[in-house]
Order: sequence, then C-alpha cells, then structure tokens
Amino acid sequence: MQITFVGSGDAFGSGGRFNTCFHVATESTRFLIDCGASSLIGMKRLGIDRAAIDLILLTHFHADHFGGVPFFVLDAQFVAKRTRPLTIAGPPGVDAWYERIFAATFPGERTLPFPLEFREFEIGQLNQIGELEVTPFHVRHDDRAGPCLALRVRAGGRTICYSGDTEWTDTLIEAARGTDLFVCECYVYDQPVRAHLALTTLRQYLPAIGAKRVILTHMSDSMLNHRPEVEYEMADDGKVIEV
Ligand SMILES: [Zn+2]
Ligand SMILES: [Zn+2]
Repeated sequence: MQITFVGSGDAFGSGGRFNTCFHVATESTRFLIDCGASSLIGMKRLGIDRAAIDLILLTHFHADHFGGVPFFVLDAQFVAKRTRPLTIAGPPGVDAWYERIFAATFPGERTLPFPLEFREFEIGQLNQIGELEVTPFHVRHDDRAGPCLALRVRAGGRTICYSGDTEWTDTLIEAARGTDLFVCECYVYDQPVRAHLALTTLRQYLPAIGAKRVILTHMSDSMLNHRPEVEYEMADDGKVIEV
C-alpha cells in the first residue's frame, strides 16, 4: 500500500500546508481519505491521476476535510473527463451535505458523465465498500459537522487508521490498536485545546495503542515550531510512504 500525504495542514493553512487529504493506492484500488478545500491543487502538484480514484472516504464535513469535493467533481466532469464510477462515503447525511456544498459554491443542475454513488457509514460496524473494509468510530470533535469519525481501513492486506479531527477519547485506542499505520491529528504541542489533540496528551496514550507506525498530521504553528522536540514522525505535503 502506498500512501501520499496530499495535504497535512489544519484549517488555517499553518506552515503553508494544504488541507487534509491522503491518497491511498493498493494494487487494485485507489482512494482518498478526506478531501479538504485545497486537495485538487495538491493532487495536481503531485501528478496524481484523479480519474483512477474509486472512492472518497470522509471523516466529517468541515471544509478543511470536505471542501475539496465540489472541485474534485467539477474537475472530473470537465477536465479529467472521468467515466469511472465514483463513490463518496461519509458520515450519515453525506448526500445532503454534498447537495448543500454544491448549492453554496457552484449552484445549478448538473448531469455528470460518470456514476456517482453515496454511502453512509454505519458507525461502529465493519462497512464493506468496494474492496475496502472500513470501520468508523465516533470521536469527539464538533458534531455540527458530523458525526465526526475516526476511520479504521483495511485494504491491500494492510490496516490503517486515521483519527480524523478529535480531542482525546479512549475510542482512539480501539480504532487504532495494532494497525500498520496510525495517522493521528496532533494540532498543538502542549496547550490542550477543545476539539483537538496535543502532543503531551498523545504521548500518554500512543504506547498503549501499539500501532506499528505513527505519523502526526493536522499541525498548527504550535506543533510546527516545536518540530525538533517531536519524537514522532510528522507528515509533510507530498510525503509518500509504503505501508
Ligand atoms: Zn480539520
Ligand atoms: Zn474539523
């Protein structure tokens, strides 16, 4: 499995980073985890073939995770000339959120030249979506844009977890335990804030999670300014790893 960090930033462009978007490729499928507002630009910079993406998995509906969907779909229609079916899977209400974001950004009727399907996650259950086994866990962030989820995903013989945006909850232990890769939000260094994680908190819990590899993402200036003191691997835009 190859993972490309298209965007590793927060909602504020800290460090000049793009909004959250991870491109995952196995031998037989390609998908995105989150598609923040800047994701199409990020994918084009990296030369990612958008038309080969089968699925977009969404953790919640804040624009730094979801706001790139209209751009992705418009590009698919007018530039990438997509014909391949696309599935957008997300928290319950994903189809209504899609209608609302299009109505607010690119209003009007559109007929897409490719099949578009929505899948609402069943939270706490194993969801078979294409070739993926996705188990969503309800985390603690801001459910006005949710329910906000962490996603445990099995694909291509590997299991990865992405925390989504969240403050600490023991649910993350279950979501990420024993995974091959845990991509975890780490918004601040040492000043706990509501709705997000601090490194000082994560240091207490990451050993119990026992993921084989941990990569921190969604970092504010507070984290980026402490980089030399951070003992965990940190994501960067354009970073590519094999899991
Ligand atoms: Zn965010
Ligand atoms: Zn958020």
